[in-house]
Amino acid sequence: METLRTDLVVVGGGAAGLLAAVAARRLGHDVLVVEASPLVGGSTAVDGGRVWLPANHLMEKSGVGDSTVEAAEYLDAILGEPTEASSAERRAAYVETAPMLAHWLTSSKLALTVDSSAADVYRQAPGAKPSGRVLYSQPFDRRSLGEWATALRSTTPVESRGWRARRNHASRDGGALVAALLHRAVGNGVELWLDAQVTDLVPDGDGIGGVVVRRQVHGTETEAGITVLARAGVLLATGGFEGNQELREEYLPLPTDATWSAAPLPGDGAMISLGAAHGAATAAMDEAWWTPVLLADGVAHPVDAERAHPHSMIVDQTGSRFFDESAPADEAGRLLYERSHGVRAIPSYLIVDNRYRRAYPLGPWEAGSYPRSAIDSGDLVKASGLPELAQALGIDRAGLLGTDVRFNGFARKGRDQDFERGERLATASGGRRRNPSLGKVDKPPFWAVPVYPGDRGTKGGLLVDADARVLRPDGDPIPGLYACGGTAASMMGRTSPAPGAALGEALIGAFRAVLRLTEADPD
Ligand SMILES: Cc1cc2nc3c(=O)[nH]c(=O)nc-3n(C[C@H](O)[C@H](O)[C@H](O)COP(=O)(O)OP(=O)(O)OC[C@H]3O[C@@H](n4cnc5c(N)ncnc54)[C@H](O)[C@@H]3O)c2cc1C
Repeated sequence: METLRTDLVVVGGGAAGLLAAVAARRLGHDVLVVEASPLVGGSTAVDGGRVWLPANHLMEKSGVGDSTVEAAEYLDAILGEPTEASSAERRAAYVETAPMLAHWLTSSKLALTVDSSAADVYRQAPGAKPSGRVLYSQPFDRRSLGEWATALRSTTPVESRGWRARRNHASRDGGALVAALLHRAVGNGVELWLDAQVTDLVPDGDGIGGVVVRRQVHGTETEAGITVLARAGVLLATGGFEGNQELREEYLPLPTDATWSAAPLPGDGAMISLGAAHGAATAAMDEAWWTPVLLADGVAHPVDAERAHPHSMIVDQTGSRFFDESAPADEAGRLLYERSHGVRAIPSYLIVDNRYRRAYPLGPWEAGSYPRSAIDSGDLVKASGLPELAQALGIDRAGLLGTDVRFNGFARKGRDQDFERGERLATASGGRRRNPSLGKVDKPPFWAVPVYPGDRGTKGGLLVDADARVLRPDGDPIPGLYACGGTAASMMGRTSPAPGAALGEALIGAFRAVLRLTEADPD
């Protein structure tokens, strides 16, 4: 078997892997990124690209005050008592590294902007901020990638719709982040292998000294594989196990289905299993970045903003509402499971009236559109009245009619006495304006979509410390082995502090791994 040597092997070419590669290269180390797919960018390339970095320097400029102390206070308030995956050290590492990483990204010429519309999810919690902590990359012109432009995973849905974006070759959102990181990686001399899958880890004493790679070269697979030895370490940044039905059934609440994951490139969990086989502990395996999803053509779409708009409600199969539909995604996803212990609630149904349909998009369907094929396939159900809708969905008719009468009464008064829908949103905006989430569901025709407890990726993975070092069950690090992003157990437990927390954790883990394994300070 052929054997090569380098300083750092990064497994996975999403945002986390690319960031680690650039950071290590800038510190003078030889880096090889091994990416299984023929394209760079992973799920990140087609996700929202928001990154939660509290106390970042761009906040100072925009006049919003913040500090690592406030960020730590907020995390502790929403995460509760520390656990093995959500240790005090990891929480401290997140808030201390976030401003440093924001500086490093901008000094690496990644153009970041504050997403002023993105707030911390639990706005009443101590230390929460109404804006400023969530950053995203400004559009990136793919042409500056030269021949690497064609190796970048495809554009975001927003981008593919926009003629302006197509014309000026701009990557946006997560696509812009990975495009900019790829640009820095290539420019700094990172070696990138595409179509190259890591199939095993190479033991070295009591630690890990390298990887075995199966590589496609000109369509032919290397038969025996290539051993790549890594002097400083191996970083696993290969995503979670959301695409692996067997692991989902073993660890996640039931029922579960890989098609309910909205991850654009669902992880197979192979590196988590491999790490465990080499002695690593795992944690948080029953958790995910939950979100209710609808299915269109078999593809999961998060049902997020959709739930909070007026003239809509979510009911179980008895036709009853059971939660504040405008709740944060993690909470809403988990509540679908909790409800299903008592009554049939998987799927539940998002029901909207025609006013809603005209005003708001629903999953992939534009506001006011008439998606004939979705109606024919049953992905989107339309009916002239609520009794007809109940019949078409096979749910309790009397239950649905009673729920609708009660809900419309709440909407008229502007207060949901059952679940306080929208109260959190109203309070967050100063409590002075009308509840933004309540509106009667009474204008036919009515529309419905089945809603499932889906995810934006799994949270369980290899147990790591504050520097992304993979730990054994006794808490000792495995020398030479690091993990971040979906491959590492998330420290966010049952919740999510803000949009951008998943990428935030992934990038901070990657950054700290590099600082640790190169025993250096950031430049
Ligand atoms: C619709 C949607 C929107 C989202 N928006 C946001 C957002 O705005 N902010 C946020 O924080 N999070 C968001 N997320 C979550 C976010 O996408 C992930 O947390 C993020 O992509 C993780 O990045 P990563 O680098 O760890 O993994 P990825 O980007 O998935 O990269 C993993 C890479 O590893 C490669 N790989 C896998 N196995 C192997 C192997 N054996 N050998 C070699 N390579 C391998 C894969 O091919 C892939 O390229 C969103 C998720 C969804 C579903």
